[in-house]
Amino acid sequence: MTSSSVRRRRAGSAAVAAVLGLLAAAGAPAFTAPALAATDGSTDRSSAAASSGSSGSSRSAGASRSSGSSGSAPGAAAIPQGISRLAQGSGSGSGRDIAITIDDGPDPRWTPQVLQVLRQHHVKATFCIVGTRAQKYPELVRAVAADGHQLCDHSADHDVTMDHKPVAYQQQQILDGKAMIEKAVPGVAVTYYRAPGGAFTPASRAIAAANGMRPLGWSVDPKDWSRPGLPAIVSAVENELPERPTVLFHDGGGDRSETVAALKQYLPWLTARGYTFTFPARTTP
Ligand SMILES: [Zn+2]
Repeated sequence: MTSSSVRRRRAGSAAVAAVLGLLAAAGAPAFTAPALAATDGSTDRSSAAASSGSSGSSRSAGASRSSGSSGSAPGAAAIPQGISRLAQGSGSGSGRDIAITIDDGPDPRWTPQVLQVLRQHHVKATFCIVGTRAQKYPELVRAVAADGHQLCDHSADHDVTMDHKPVAYQQQQILDGKAMIEKAVPGVAVTYYRAPGGAFTPASRAIAAANGMRPLGWSVDPKDWSRPGLPAIVSAVENELPERPTVLFHDGGGDRSETVAALKQYLPWLTARGYTFTFPARTTP
């Protein structure tokens, strides 16, 4: 991740975290404020990008909003189309499939801890990897792949404003990110693309699909990146799980101790309720 993207993330994250902190102080759970859901350092556009087919979820609040961003103006209403419906899982139709996604790594401190928790609970997840971080820590990408997790291209530099930039730039970010991950783990497929901050555009979805990557959204966002506190993260994922959810966590971009702690509670909780861990669906967009 570039220093500039880090600055952007932190600036946005700090502002939203401050608001969420006020809400928390007022006794309101963070996840009841979807309009403020700058997940992953993005604007609320991320929720819209993720909400394909999940309009019933209280956390897919973006579906009712148009971002108005220049990158999506021609097809704002169509943004959710073609985004992988995480909730579909791969399988049985029981409604008890869940896909865990882990974004923004690899990180030398947190990725090994997340991998260990997943291993302990026999959970396979999808890791959305930032290309420049894969360049820096290729051994961690190999560790992720070696544990049987799926790999997702999270762009080269994690520029959450890339949807406002030229298509050529978006293409470079997507393809460079994929190449950086592939270089770290030759021969391992990168099967998904998730726009940083959910900043998808019709063009970026098409570029990803043309290169064998399913555009990947999410349907449950516990906002672990904002460090809302362990109870908030856990309650966000325990309450009102949509049908076949895809849940967004982070192993990079900051202190992820709350994420690790939340996974330790959350994964056995899901297992006890009969959930099966799957990868997001990869049907044709
Ligand atoms: Zn991200």
